[in-house]
Amino acid sequence: ELVNLNELYNYILNRFDMIIDSDEQKDRSDKHYTIKREFTKRDLWVEIDTDRFTQVIDNIMNNAIKYSPDGGIITCRLIETNNNVILSIADQGLGIPRADIPHVFDRFYRVDKARSRAQGGTGLGLAISKEVVQSLGGKIWVESREGHGSTFYISLPYEPYDEGDDLWDEA
Ligand code: ATP
Ligand code: MG
Repeated sequence: ELVNLNELYNYILNRFDMIIDSDEQKDRSDKHYTIKREFTKRDLWVEIDTDRFTQVIDNIMNNAIKYSPDGGIITCRLIETNNNVILSIADQGLGIPRADIPHVFDRFYRVDKARSRAQGGTGLGLAISKEVVQSLGGKIWVESREGHGSTFYISLPYEPYDEGDDLWDEA
């Protein structure tokens, strides 16, 4: 369906804000975090499957929280380029060692087996996210520095709405 990506992205992130003080959040990790939003002011309308998009953002947000120490800031951006929209989610967490970066989207791949086992999970979140993003015609990648944090990027195809295209615009 055709959705306002600014609204949808914000709605998904709001759910992470709301659980911050709830019991659910305390059970999860006893972790505090702040979500910062830096969105373009222009509304970006994209053709997208809402459920699948939500699943991807949920996976990346859960990782940003899980692999960050207490009190971190998670910065979520939304921008447009010529033919794409780009979403990014940046954390101040553990980061990913350079040698592991090419593998984190592989099925069952987890950096530092011992640490990851203690945190729970299957190592499927990013593999599934990659499949979903590709099925939406987009790309997903990561930039990271061990000990400093990680930024995950998602680009999706986007045709900017041109007012000249409006059939009903009577000049
Ligand atoms: P699951 O998502 O299935 O519960 P998982 O989180 O271990 O388990 P992925 O989401 O696929 O699996 O992530 C793969 C691995 O990449 C993780 O185990 C972790 O080592 C690393 N990783 C993912 N996101 C981050 C991040 N934001 N910061 C640091 N490391 C990360
Ligand atoms: Mg995960």
